[in-house]
Amino acid sequence: MKTLIPSVILVLVSTITASITFSLDAIGSVIQWEQFEGSYDSLVLRCSETAYETEDPDWGVILATVYPDSSGVFPTSVQIQGAFIVDPDKCIACGICINRCPTDAITEDIDGKAAINPGLCIACGICSNVCPVEAIFAPSSSLHYGLFGVTEESIEEFIQGSVQ
Ligand code: SF4
Ligand code: SF4
Repeated sequence: MKTLIPSVILVLVSTITASITFSLDAIGSVIQWEQFEGSYDSLVLRCSETAYETEDPDWGVILATVYPDSSGVFPTSVQIQGAFIVDPDKCIACGICINRCPTDAITEDIDGKAAINPGLCIACGICSNVCPVEAIFAPSSSLHYGLFGVTEESIEEFIQGSVQ
């Protein structure tokens, strides 16, 4: 989830234009934003417990990457399935959550870090409680969300965001 942005110099321009809203439905989290003008190849949705600071390329956990339709129009919402998400930057690959999950919803990714299958997660919260480094969290309205426009030149531009 975190590796979708190429590791190049990122140019971040703080041009906040609209709010991002958060809600829950039966499947998981729904994050919405207003349609905007911009020429990007994709949009990357991130979230963090702390507010975005200008030109911080490491801000937040990547929740989703969104692409335009055949007409070049981006969707204005994305649904995040499941209740809990692993922050790969925090995970130390200890395996505790994998052993404690009652539904075997957590597996190791190629780096040995935890990855949650949202289709198997029953939102019991055990993994989040046992993680020694607080790497597992549930998206909520109390987090900060940011949407980033990405071009083929790998220039990343912060285009809008807010707490909710
Ligand atoms: S919330 Fe419960 S079911 Fe879901 S991944 Fe964590 S331990 Fe497994
Ligand atoms: S308990 Fe926390 S640190 Fe350990 S593997 Fe799970 S997410 Fe990573």
